[in-house]
Amino acid sequence: MPPVNTKTWSDILAHVRLSYPQLSRGWFSQLSPRSLAQGTLTVEAGNSSQAVYLRRHCQRPFAEAAQAATGRLLTLRFESTEDPDPAPEATPGLSFEDEAELALNGDYIFDNFVTGPCNRLAHAAAVAVSQAPGRAYNPFFIHGAVGLGKTHLLQAVCHQILETAPASRIKYISCESFTNHFLEAVEKGAMNQFRYRYRNADVLVIDDIHFLAERERSQEEFFHTFNTLHQSRRQIILSADCPPPEIPSLEERLVSRFNSGLVTLLERPCLETRMAIVRKKAKLRCLDVPEEVVRLIAGSIDSNIRELEGALAKMELLGATCEGVVDLEAARKVIGVDTGRRRVTIPEILELVGQRYNLRQADLQGKRRTKSVTRPRQICMYLARQLTDLSLGEIGGYLGGRDHTTVLHAQRLIGERGIEDVVLHRELEELKDQLLSRPAHAH
Ligand code: ADP
Ligand code: MG
Repeated sequence: MPPVNTKTWSDILAHVRLSYPQLSRGWFSQLSPRSLAQGTLTVEAGNSSQAVYLRRHCQRPFAEAAQAATGRLLTLRFESTEDPDPAPEATPGLSFEDEAELALNGDYIFDNFVTGPCNRLAHAAAVAVSQAPGRAYNPFFIHGAVGLGKTHLLQAVCHQILETAPASRIKYISCESFTNHFLEAVEKGAMNQFRYRYRNADVLVIDDIHFLAERERSQEEFFHTFNTLHQSRRQIILSADCPPPEIPSLEERLVSRFNSGLVTLLERPCLETRMAIVRKKAKLRCLDVPEEVVRLIAGSIDSNIRELEGALAKMELLGATCEGVVDLEAARKVIGVDTGRRRVTIPEILELVGQRYNLRQADLQGKRRTKSVTRPRQICMYLARQLTDLSLGEIGGYLGGRDHTTVLHAQRLIGERGIEDVVLHRELEELKDQLLSRPAHAH
């Protein structure tokens, strides 16, 4: 007997057709409901590309329709007779099972990615990977500072693969979600499902893999996922804010796996590239930006492409445009707001943090490792990363010749603790305010 009666099923289909005409397809009439268990209605599609289409675009519409027709909150699962392995039984309440579609940003495609000397290699490699997944470079590892286009490139590869081979099973996920899913699966005893989900992907893309730093159990699980996929020549794509050996406490075996494919770097873009990016982003926003404004923006923001875009958004928001054309004077004001922020120096940070925690600068710069010194020292490193343009190595140099990985570790640690711990959060905010509002001559 079918899990829902014929009338209910045709009501569900009718509801989807009516509410989502643009998503509906003629072949929906050939779908058949297969089972209903633990709140999950499993529907069988004729082939795997239909199942992929349904999973990607129709999870919510069908769930809504099923709720309207049955009065129950149901989760939909789409399968096809061609699927390689049957999915393990769903564990109720496991949130990652409900996650419907690939969350890709439609703007993050190759056409919208501007190339220059800073990113040409990474871009070319990403294109090659998207043309021959699992064969060109595997794994493919992109690293670079924040806001330089890692996520954009990763998603461009996904878009391209989906365009060429729509039935590809792509799993695109942030490393944080991977770790959270893993912990949730451990807690709920649902490792089979977890493994099925990740090890059945044709392409596994994990953004910001440095999040695995110091997470031993997740590293262990990821290692096995990696091996399974790699052995069957499925593509693995990773991004991080530093090269593999510099990810703090990353197991050696993972470092060597990551290094075994292609590791490429995204560097800061030069002026020309930044100008081309501003032009491209302006076009996407349908803004007419005169060349002198392009130069002004690209000339004053040099470290982070996200901020270039932010400047354009701000111009729109603050009304620096007149019928879609950006005005130079108004643009100057908007940019002035940003660059008017005074620059903070490390000696200022050391002085202020020293005062606050009753330490001498020599303590902060020295070798002592007691907790009363290490925490304030880490705070100095964190603030230096937040408020100056200095590199990890330069900051380490100031703070008693410490290694850049130590600075990276401090930056992450304080960043994370500063979210969880309200007292620390307030301290950091106060320190930042004081540093930014000091008169410029107070060196
Ligand atoms: P990351 O993941 O490295 O922090 P993102 O990929 O999120 O950086 O990029 C930040 C913003 O800058 C995004 O809006 C992205 O589209 C844009 N961007 C980065 N590099 C380029 C590029 N080369 N061409 C066009 N836009 C870019
Ligand atoms: Mg990113």
